Amino acid sequence: MGRAEKPSARRPAIQLNVKTILNKIQPHAGFVLQDIRLQGRRGRPERIEITVRAQASMQGRCSRCQRPVPGDDQLEEREGQHVPLWAIPTWFRYAPRRVECPEHGVVVEYIPWNEGKRRLTTAMMGFLARWARRRSWRKTAQVFQVRWEAVYRSVAWFVAWGLAPRELKEVESIGVDEIHWGRGLRASNFLTVVYQIDAHCRRRLFVGKGRSKRTLRQGLKVLGPEVVQGLRFVCSAMWKPYLEVMAAQAGEALQVRDRFHITMPLNQAVDQVRRTESMRLRGASPAAAQQLKHTRWALLRRGSHVRGRARQKLNALLASQLQTARAWELKEAFAHFWKYRSVTWAGAFLDYWTWRAMRSRLEPMKKVARMLRAHEPLLLNWFRANGEIYAGAVEGLNNKIRVITRRSYGFRTFEAMEVALYHTLGRLPEPESTHRYC
Ligand SMILES: [Zn+2]
Repeated sequence: MGRAEKPSARRPAIQLNVKTILNKIQPHAGFVLQDIRLQGRRGRPERIEITVRAQASMQGRCSRCQRPVPGDDQLEEREGQHVPLWAIPTWFRYAPRRVECPEHGVVVEYIPWNEGKRRLTTAMMGFLARWARRRSWRKTAQVFQVRWEAVYRSVAWFVAWGLAPRELKEVESIGVDEIHWGRGLRASNFLTVVYQIDAHCRRRLFVGKGRSKRTLRQGLKVLGPEVVQGLRFVCSAMWKPYLEVMAAQAGEALQVRDRFHITMPLNQAVDQVRRTESMRLRGASPAAAQQLKHTRWALLRRGSHVRGRARQKLNALLASQLQTARAWELKEAFAHFWKYRSVTWAGAFLDYWTWRAMRSRLEPMKKVARMLRAHEPLLLNWFRANGEIYAGAVEGLNNKIRVITRRSYGFRTFEAMEVALYHTLGRLPEPESTHRYC
C-alpha cells in the first residue's frame, strides 16, 4: 500500500470498500471484481470470497504465450487462496475460459493472479515465501492457517522464479564447502555447497548431495564452463576430492585457504588434547581434572571473546601446567597469522608457529602443524588474494547454513532443504508483490 498521504482539499477522500482497495493495489486488465462476500457463522467472520468475472468485451489470453485469442467456453469455477484480509482467510473464485490459440491449440486462458492449477494465488505464494524467510516454515503455516506443504510449495515457486533468469556473470571467487546434515557420518549425510564470495556479492550458488568429486562436478556444471574457467580464487575445504576437481577444472584460479578452514582443525586439536588429558587425570589427579571440566566452550572461542566467570576459569586453567593450556596458547598464537599483510612475513610466522607446534609434544597440535606445512602455498595465497575475497564470507555463509540445516526437522527431504538454502542465501531476484509486508 502507498505512502500515508494527508487528505488534501483538491483530492476527495475515497469511500473505502474492499473492492476499491483491491482494484487499487491489484488491478487485472480484462477482469472485474464481481462480488466480495464475507461468510461466517454466528457473526464470526470465517472466509472472504472474491468472485472475479472476465470483461465480456475482452478476449482471454493464451496461457502459454499470453496473446489475446478467441474462446468463450467456460470451465468450472476454481478457487485460489489469497493473502488473508484482516486475518480472515480469503479466496479468489473464477471460472476460466477455454481459448483457442493458433499456435498452442485449445488451452485454459491465462489468469494473471494465479499460475496453472495452483491452489494459492501468486500474491499469496509471494506473501508466504517472504514470511518463511523470517520465521520457520512451520510457524508461517501455523500463523497464516495453511498447510506446511503450501509454504514449501510457495517457497519453491519463489526460488524457481528467481533462478530462471539468474545471471552468473562476474563470479570471480567461489567457496566450496562440505556441510554435515542429519545424523551419522555416511556420505549421504553430507552436502556440497558452492558459494560466491566476491567482495561485491556473496550468495549461495549450488548445493548437492554428498561430498564426492561427482557432486562438485555437478555444481561446476551448473555454473557453466565459462564461469568456472574465469574463476580467480577458489576457497575450498581441505577435502581431497574438492581440491582435485578444482585443480582439474579451474587450474587458473588461485586456491586459497581461509581462516575458517584453519580455525576449525585448530579448535578440534585443542579439544582433543583436553579430552585426552581429562581422561588421563581423572584417576591420577582429580583436582586437576576438575579444572578442565566445562571449559570446552571457553577454550574454543577466540580468546578475546571470553569474558566474566568463564574468563576467570580460563585464566586459572592457563596458569596451570596442563597440556590443554599449552594447546590453547598455540591456538591463540596462530590468530596473529591473519594480521599480516605481506606474504613474506606471514610465511615467516607460519614457519615459526609450526616449529613451536612440532616441539610441543602435543600430538594433535603436531598434526595440525604438519597439515599447515603441507598446505603452506595455499595458505599464503590468502595474502595474495587480500581484499579480493570478503574475509568473513565463508564463515558467515557457513554459519547461516548451519542454522538452516539445524532446523532441518522441518525439511523432510533434501529437495525442501535445497529450496530453503536458495531462499535464504541465494540472493535471487524476486517477483514483485502487491501484498508485501516484509
Ligand atoms: Zn499461445
